[in-house]
Amino acid sequence: MTFPPIPEPDAASARFFAALDAGRIELLRCADCGSMHLAALICDACGGTQFATVPASGAGIVHSFTRLHMAHHPAFAEQLPLTAGVVELAEGPRLFAQLVGEGTLAIGAPVSAEIRDCDGRGVAVFRLVAG
Ligand SMILES: [Zn+2]
Repeated sequence: MTFPPIPEPDAASARFFAALDAGRIELLRCADCGSMHLAALICDACGGTQFATVPASGAGIVHSFTRLHMAHHPAFAEQLPLTAGVVELAEGPRLFAQLVGEGTLAIGAPVSAEIRDCDGRGVAVFRLVAG
C-alpha cells in the first residue's frame, strides 16, 4: 500500500501531529486571549506565547472544497475522483483535508473528523454528516 505524503512536524506543529498520531485532534488555546490554533509558537491574534492544549470535538463545516480528477501522488490514484477541502472546526481553526462520505457536499455542510492510520502516522479526514 502506498501511503500519502504527510508533513514533517516543526516546532509549531509538533503537538498537533503528535496528537494525530495518537488518534485525536488537539488544539492550542492562547492563554492570553483565548484564540484557538492548530499550531503556533506565537499567537497571531495577540502575540502571546503561552498555550493550553485542548481536545477538538472533531465537528466542523466545509469551508471550501474541490474535486480532484488527477492523482498528484500514487497514494491517491485508486481514490479518484477525490474530494478535498478546507474544514472549519467548531472551535474555529481551519485545515485542509480529504472529505469522504455520502452526505451532501456543499459550503457549510457539517462534517465529522476521522483519524486514519497511515503507516503509523495519523491523518485527519472529514466525513460528511448525512442530514
Ligand atoms: Zn492570543
